[in-house]
Amino acid sequence: MKSNADCLTLALSKGRILDDTLPLLAAAGIEPAEPIHKSRKLIFETNLPGVRLLIIRATDVPTYVQLGAADLGVSGKDVLMEQGEEGLYEPLDLNIARCRLMTARLKGAPMPVGRRRVATKFVHLAKQWYASQGIQVDLIKLYGGMELAPIMGLADEIVDIVDTGNTLKANGLEACESIAEISSRLVVNKASMKLKFKQIQPLIERLTAAVAAAN
Ligand code: AMP
Repeated sequence: MKSNADCLTLALSKGRILDDTLPLLAAAGIEPAEPIHKSRKLIFETNLPGVRLLIIRATDVPTYVQLGAADLGVSGKDVLMEQGEEGLYEPLDLNIARCRLMTARLKGAPMPVGRRRVATKFVHLAKQWYASQGIQVDLIKLYGGMELAPIMGLADEIVDIVDTGNTLKANGLEACESIAEISSRLVVNKASMKLKFKQIQPLIERLTAAVAAAN
């Protein structure tokens, strides 16, 4: 296998974002050498010599790119805002996996008196936002299934990603306030941008053209 210095490594968020990323990469002329969804592999060569893809958890993408284990990455803005963006350039909004970060509550629930208990996996983002609104909260970190927290009396409200709103509705919740508009971004390690500019720049241009064509 080639070393990091010889390759361009692009870290992709698996799951929902990957489904939107692969067609965009294909439109930019970057295709995995074998079908990603049929394989349990985590590294894929592509049709472009020296360009390889890593398929990793969405929350690990900024870490790989920040620490230079990947040169580029595709990451949701929610993850970037929550985890911090030091050491990264964000040259392109890919305009995929669009959604909103919102507060949500049980339908018709009365507003609690005093401090609000808020369940979320976005504790950093939520802390900043409630502070900016002058609302006092106790944050409860959860890793999934946030909708359950108000139902079971663990929290008064949640902060979570909303796309169609179907998940909230199915659990008797309603979206309240919009905290941020989210989409996936191309991120680049700052050192790689300098050292591998000649390889990275054309890739950014191809992706920019693919995004423009898709919109
Ligand atoms: P929906 O029912 O369409 O509103 O989808 C909401 C659920 O899907 C949430 O619990 C999110 O965790 C997940 N989700 C939807 N869109 C995204 C996205 N772009 N990025 C990450 N998670 C998402």
